[in-house]
Amino acid sequence: MLRLCQRANASCGACCGLYNGQDHSRAALTDELWRRTRALARTEQTEPAFQACGARLSEGTGAPVFPSVRVCPLLGFLDAAGTRIGCLAHPLATGGPDLRAAGVYDVTTCEAFLCPSHAWLSEEEAQLAEAACADWHLYGLVVTDVPFLRAVLGAVAGVTGQRVERRHLEHGSFKKALRALLAMKEELEPGSEGLFGAFRPGRDGEPVPRRIDYEQLERGASPYDQILLSIGADPRSGNDLDLLEEEIRRRLDACRAALPEPGKAARRGA
Ligand code: SF4
Ligand code: SF4
Repeated sequence: MLRLCQRANASCGACCGLYNGQDHSRAALTDELWRRTRALARTEQTEPAFQACGARLSEGTGAPVFPSVRVCPLLGFLDAAGTRIGCLAHPLATGGPDLRAAGVYDVTTCEAFLCPSHAWLSEEEAQLAEAACADWHLYGLVVTDVPFLRAVLGAVAGVTGQRVERRHLEHGSFKKALRALLAMKEELEPGSEGLFGAFRPGRDGEPVPRRIDYEQLERGASPYDQILLSIGADPRSGNDLDLLEEEIRRRLDACRAALPEPGKAARRGA
């Protein structure tokens, strides 16, 4: 069965509310995850103690972007180097007790929840996201946005004439170029909502589909419409559509230049 949350080289915490804050930059989230990790490491491993610590950690952290999605203070770093994120209340993290009931959901919900990407992504697509992103911040953004990942892979196939396969990522320069394209998810204007894919918060806090109003902009639809939607190029999100479109084109060109020609790739792989 496809598993996306904890993979050999990637981990995700999106459904624990990781990105559901006003500042979801890598730097801000890294600081927050360390703050939680250090506080919980000093906390007695009991449910009341974890609950109290979680409540203190949640104080003054600001309003979530989507009020209907909870932000759990028990998500943190699982390793000393800060390369893997996950639930610090899980028995595998505590080394014994299951303290997940001290978080924002009950244990059954935490245990059973699988986001929709599990139903939509293939193992091959998951492997491509894992290999290309190679860190928790970008991986979580990409693996939870299936239309974005597919649009990027489709656009790369469009400019290179080759379907992107796992073996292509063994070429360092192509892997770097593909990562740079995916990383447009992380490079939005401050305050942008775009990290949340093709959705923005509705009046009731629920995600509502985003749409780029090309008519109002007096221009035709972009060939990269889905990518632009997913990175928040909707001008209402505070980003510049034309600049982002040009940047996509530039990064796609870099992918095309870096991908070995079919003959060369086959000889190397042979
Ligand atoms: S958002 Fe999906 S992939 Fe990420 S931790 Fe949750 S269930 Fe796993
Ligand atoms: S307790 Fe549940 S919601 Fe909180 S970090 Fe753990 S798995 Fe995520």
